[in-house]
Amino acid sequence: MHKFVKALTLYSFTILCVPFATQAQETSTGQTPAFVVHKLTDFLYAIGEPNYYQKNYSYLLVGTDRALMFDSGANQKEDITSVVRNITDKPLSLLPSHLHFDHLGGLHNFQSIYLVDMPFTRQFKGKDDFYRVPEPVYLGNIDHMVVPPFKVARLIKPDETIDLGGLKVRLISVPGHTQDEVALFDETHNILLAGDHVYPSWLLAGNLKDYVASLDATLKVINEQTAIYGAHADEDPTRVPAMTYADVRAIRDKMVLIHAGRAKGEAFSDPELIKSSELYKVEKDISILTNIQFTDGRVYGY
Ligand SMILES: [Zn+2]
Repeated sequence: MHKFVKALTLYSFTILCVPFATQAQETSTGQTPAFVVHKLTDFLYAIGEPNYYQKNYSYLLVGTDRALMFDSGANQKEDITSVVRNITDKPLSLLPSHLHFDHLGGLHNFQSIYLVDMPFTRQFKGKDDFYRVPEPVYLGNIDHMVVPPFKVARLIKPDETIDLGGLKVRLISVPGHTQDEVALFDETHNILLAGDHVYPSWLLAGNLKDYVASLDATLKVINEQTAIYGAHADEDPTRVPAMTYADVRAIRDKMVLIHAGRAKGEAFSDPELIKSSELYKVEKDISILTNIQFTDGRVYGY
């Protein structure tokens, strides 16, 4: 979950994506593509959805043996794996950063799905081995979207390492946005894929105590040189949501103040989805939303 402002209509991806090697996947109708690929390194690609109002970014890691998608995007109609197949033909798995609908849109296109191994996720497994995530968890009604049942090829415990062949990432549990929120850390290359734990826009706090603890833990893992990539862009949907150590520290410091009741927020609502909330500005386009009630009356948090 993220912000609820409609993305600006984009004129040209080629020009706007200049800082990154971009392979726009043109649709047959000639409209702006659903997915735009940004090559970040030889083994890491960001796949953005600049037309989608939440401006999601999913990430593709390519090892010598396997490839892994971190999130599957929000789009259920276009197949994100066809974009991946233009980059690599390695066996492909998907790991969602958490079980919100905007990260599960392409889930049904994956033959191999990984999931964080914790009581919260295990409860969704049925006797037939299919996982059925309830709508109040994935919140798909917001986009009139249904997450289908799925099988899990591999459960991954917090701090377990995923070896893709010449490329290893460690799964880090970072609850706060949701209970099951995870990040991936590549220690060798000092890269953190942060999902919805941190990104440079409106952060939705599900549990302030957990969020502060997770941010403290993250700051012990990363350093000033870490490349940090989140799952939602800032105001510019064509820009890969990269962050710095200082950004994460600023978010942590503000979250501590909010949790202690010592920060001043402002009432915030959004006609589409947020009936009421408190908004706390952090820096740049980054802010924190708490006490969120959706327009359908549901309260967010755990
Ligand atoms: Zn999200």
